[in-house]
Amino acid sequence: MTATVLVLNCGSSSIKYRLVDTGNGTATTQGLLERIGESGGRLRHEDSDGVREIDVDVPDHERGLREIMRAFDETGRPLAESGLVAVGHRVVHGGDRFADPVVVDDDVEATIEALTPLAPLHNPPNLAGIQVARRALPDLPHVAVFDTAFHQSLPASAYTYALDTSTAAEHGVRRYGFHGTSVSYVSHEAARLLERRLEDTNLIVLHLGNGASATAVRGGRSVDTSMGLTPLEGLVMGTRSGDLDPGILFHLRREAGMAVDDLDDLLNRRSGLLGLAGANDMREVHRRAREGDEHALLAREVYCHRIRHYVGAYLAVLGHAHAVVFTAGIGENDAWVRSHSLSGLRRLGIEVDHVRNALPGRRAHVISPDGAEVAVMVVPTDEELEIARQAISLVAT
Ligand code: AMP
Repeated sequence: MTATVLVLNCGSSSIKYRLVDTGNGTATTQGLLERIGESGGRLRHEDSDGVREIDVDVPDHERGLREIMRAFDETGRPLAESGLVAVGHRVVHGGDRFADPVVVDDDVEATIEALTPLAPLHNPPNLAGIQVARRALPDLPHVAVFDTAFHQSLPASAYTYALDTSTAAEHGVRRYGFHGTSVSYVSHEAARLLERRLEDTNLIVLHLGNGASATAVRGGRSVDTSMGLTPLEGLVMGTRSGDLDPGILFHLRREAGMAVDDLDDLLNRRSGLLGLAGANDMREVHRRAREGDEHALLAREVYCHRIRHYVGAYLAVLGHAHAVVFTAGIGENDAWVRSHSLSGLRRLGIEVDHVRNALPGRRAHVISPDGAEVAVMVVPTDEELEIARQAISLVAT
């Protein structure tokens, strides 16, 4: 039997899971439990025999994990008999404490908890998942893989905000960056596609999903990234504003009387594509734009302009890029966004071949013309596989 790793990604009301065969990287089983702590809970459990949809209300993550383990049992493939060698946990914020994955012990749990002020929506459910899984599967190593870890290689010039030093230090205010697990996976795949050693490769990785970020990667290490202290900075996202003048906050506080929580809600949940176009899904924005909706037309332009802005900045940061890489929901599927955000950059060596760009493909592929100075490529991301790989490399050593 080959070794497997159970990857858990616990959100506030959901548990996403995947059992990864570490021999070939395939998922033998995967699933999603939604609406934890609410009514109408639903578990979708998928293996090679098919998909099971189970209606089940669970009050908390503890019961949720038990339901997931029951689903494994009921399909005749109990977790205990699956060759499990580790559990990999996605953790959003590792602050400046974790530059690598780590085997979880009580100290690690305490540190993740102490980092909660930096990721109040994400670290608590991530930690709850770890605690529950350690109790349920106590004999296995549990590995925490942090979204921020990949960006711990940022130089001080890139991670430092020009604020009063002591205030910033006291409150941990610096750029941390996110999507690191995805960017790490995609960078390896891009180097493979380029037939280059990752150590000798410079990349601009555009992770364009519901959250979106740009990262400059030199030799497999992050040297600049668009998300900051929180995942709010940088590109335009589904519901998040990305970059804006911090003075806007003071203005709205004073002139509109908005409280901190109102501002948080505005920037994190009512802005981005949703704020501009009234829809947070890019497919719906395109549909409205095709009907001539002015708000949707502008939203697409703002979205692509911001991407172009970061591509130019990161070309300058890197000095030279071997490839611009698109990944995640929009990056992998949206030919319009890819071609519009990189249009007019031929003099910088960046060009999209419209025929290649229009071809659908589930595998990593190049969409620039042959001989282009900077390759443009689409690389599907796989955060769960990367978490499994990082977990196995840690427990195998
Ligand atoms: P992710 O966070 O990577 O799962 O990406 C989710 C987002 O990808 C959705 O909110 C959509 O905006 C976008 N998306 C998914 N499929 C497509 C598609 N075929 N065309 C354009 N955008 C898409």
